[in-house]
Amino acid sequence: MKPTILILGAGTGGIVTAKILSNKIGHKASILLFEKEENYVFTPSLLWLMVGKRKPEQIYRQTRKISGKGIEVIIGEIEKVNPQQISVTANGKNYKGDYMLISLGVEQICEHHLNDYGFDFYTLGGAMKFSVELKNIMGGKIALLVTSLPFKCPAAPYEAAMLVENYFRKKGLSSKVEISLFTPEPGPMGVAGSELSGRVRQMIESKGILYFPEHQLESADKKTLTFSNGKTTEFDLLAFTPKHQCPAVIKETTLVGKSGWIEVNRHTMETDFLNVYSIGDITSIPLEMGKPLPKAGVFAHYQANTVAHNIIRRIQGKKPDKTFDGYGQCFLEMGDRKAAYAGGNFYATPLPSVKMKPPGYIWHWTKVWFEKYWFFKNF
Ligand SMILES: Cc1cc2nc3c(=O)[nH]c(=O)nc-3n(C[C@H](O)[C@H](O)[C@H](O)COP(=O)(O)OP(=O)(O)OC[C@H]3O[C@@H](n4cnc5c(N)ncnc54)[C@H](O)[C@@H]3O)c2cc1C
Repeated sequence: MKPTILILGAGTGGIVTAKILSNKIGHKASILLFEKEENYVFTPSLLWLMVGKRKPEQIYRQTRKISGKGIEVIIGEIEKVNPQQISVTANGKNYKGDYMLISLGVEQICEHHLNDYGFDFYTLGGAMKFSVELKNIMGGKIALLVTSLPFKCPAAPYEAAMLVENYFRKKGLSSKVEISLFTPEPGPMGVAGSELSGRVRQMIESKGILYFPEHQLESADKKTLTFSNGKTTEFDLLAFTPKHQCPAVIKETTLVGKSGWIEVNRHTMETDFLNVYSIGDITSIPLEMGKPLPKAGVFAHYQANTVAHNIIRRIQGKKPDKTFDGYGQCFLEMGDRKAAYAGGNFYATPLPSVKMKPPGYIWHWTKVWFEKYWFFKNF
């Protein structure tokens, strides 16, 4: 009998896992990939979409195209997950597996009716509409807003602010706009350490972007944001991140720990249930410094490498021997076809050991190359 592997979610983690399994044991296993969305969106490109550097159709592909030996893509909402039984219900049908990987990411919620006043740039629709509005605006107050913590890709709002600044500068409108970034964080990318955080702050402020840390949104209306520290601001154009929470279908299971997310062995990504793994944004991995491992695709990707390898070993009757070591990196888009690079070991103790390399064209083009490579390899 072929083993059945249930992969929940065809995002970064699910795709990488499914593809490795398919390439290595696709002829000997049944890989069921469950996903509710008809289209997969490559999220890093949403930032380019916001400022007109991509068209929507360039940054998404049909989920069904994640084909490969042994992979069956099942489109539909997962309604129930039973880790004890290693089973899933989708489209009213129950599927039983031998192994299960949960990579369902985060559920994104729009609070304070923000969709009525601005654009959620963490979605294809929101980033697209923002880019249309951007073209029409000749001046005024542009607000970028992180509504709540945690949010995925700690660099994304900073990149968005820098790309928007670059957009107006190129149009000769810098003196006509005021760009502000509001966030509940004490500083940018805090997990990476105070030195790196300070450098990112300096990077955005040197571009004239006004930075307002420790600003937790309390309410909003058509023109105004009000924060819990009593401050208010007016805006003409607003881009915001949604609230992130554990997907409802998982929240009701015993997989979820005190953090409100799935808690796993941070090296093997195993849950408390035998042959059930979880990776990526849906997990919470505490670090010694007191903050969790950031939610980012790069970690989902490397964790997927570990899990896929170890599932194959188990199927072959061998001992799992690969671990996720906490390494990760990101490219911070800055405009002018330049990006900075930050990377290192997030599991280092007592503090993550993350270094930043000076901005350059190379990091921007590496990010562009990865976008092309990702679509070529997986779709
Ligand atoms: C604007 C932006 C820019 C980013 N840039 C970067 C970057 O440069 N580098 C980086 O490392 N990360 C980046 N990220 C973060 C990255 O996208 C995520 O961290 C990564 O996708 C997490 O992978 P995942 O597999 O955990 O979850 P996801 O990729 O979110 O996949 C989860 C999947 O599960 C599906 N799903 C959820 N619930 C159900 C259900 N009930 N039934 C069926 N399917 C379901 C979802 O539709 C989704 O496709 C960025 C994110 C954004 C928004």
